[in-house]
Amino acid sequence: MIGPRDDLALMEGYHSPQVDVEVRLNTNEAPEPPPEGFEAALVEEIRALDWHRYPDRSYRALRGAIADLHGVAPDQVFAANGSNEVLQTLCLTYGGPGRTAAVFEPTYALHSHIARITGTGVATGERRADLGLDLEEVRRVVTEAAPEITFLCSPNNPTGLVEDEATVRSVLDLAPGLLVVDEAYGQFAPWSALELVADDVPLVVTRTYSKTWSMAAARLGYLVGPRTLVAQLDQVVLPYHLDSMKQAAGRLALGFQPAMEARVAALVEERGRLTAALADLDVDIWPSGANFVLFRPRERDGHDVWQRLLDRGVLVRDCSGWPRLSGCLRVTIGTTAEDDAFLAALEEALA
Ligand code: PMP
Repeated sequence: MIGPRDDLALMEGYHSPQVDVEVRLNTNEAPEPPPEGFEAALVEEIRALDWHRYPDRSYRALRGAIADLHGVAPDQVFAANGSNEVLQTLCLTYGGPGRTAAVFEPTYALHSHIARITGTGVATGERRADLGLDLEEVRRVVTEAAPEITFLCSPNNPTGLVEDEATVRSVLDLAPGLLVVDEAYGQFAPWSALELVADDVPLVVTRTYSKTWSMAAARLGYLVGPRTLVAQLDQVVLPYHLDSMKQAAGRLALGFQPAMEARVAALVEERGRLTAALADLDVDIWPSGANFVLFRPRERDGHDVWQRLLDRGVLVRDCSGWPRLSGCLRVTIGTTAEDDAFLAALEEALA
């Protein structure tokens, strides 16, 4: 039987176990479905679709709506099936055999995973012991590897730590190729690299509908970047990659911006409540600018605590066996009721 490419054969897949439990706080989704009125509007659009025709290949209406949201031009926007596919298209376009992407671990596992799948070499830098970015290490890695792509993630998954403007500007100065700032959780953070995007700056910022916009099921993400790069990505991605339903859903969702902003504000407040409650328990916590919090039980084994939470109907992300994150767990901010259930279960699990 045929086997995969030699360079893929030893790679592990990426997955988060989907367990059927009462309280699922493991994949950083929005805790609520889209706002009232979204579904009815989408159904109407779907009824009116020309099903026998291909979708608008350059998704003009969606692109225009995203551009308006960020105050940029439509040709500075590239969208795809989830920000993962945006990242993949970047690697297909600027990575590949003989090229390198730099990552600073621990960070979002898909950056190095997608790089490898696209045949891109990976240069790995280490974060500091407190999991913050070390600019001297960035300088060392980009000088040695001269990467075509440098990945940052802000807020970083799974730590929740936010890179400030000075740090992103420094990495932009140091990195010889394209800087990708993955802002899947950008709405929950106090600062965004979007303001640095310009046609003469080798920077793209990626965003997703999966978190803030309550649309993880739809698989839609995008980037904002220089026009020339967006045109190059358009050439690489498959024709008609965004189906008509998704284009409509993405455009309609942006009509609910005030409701979404209110939800983000509520989640940020809830994050404060959850973090304060965690601070009273026997765990170390990292300050989060995202819709999740990384923590580490001080006295108890992390995996053991994960299992004890699961036994009580609460699923969080088990990072305890991941390199550099020994003993750590990550919890998504949910509804008040879900977070209360998590805190009660955690108190028991730590007892
Ligand atoms: N980037 C980061 C940092 C993420 O955490 C995620 C979701 N886990 C993604 C990208 C992918 O999001 P999407 O659902 O848009 O593919």
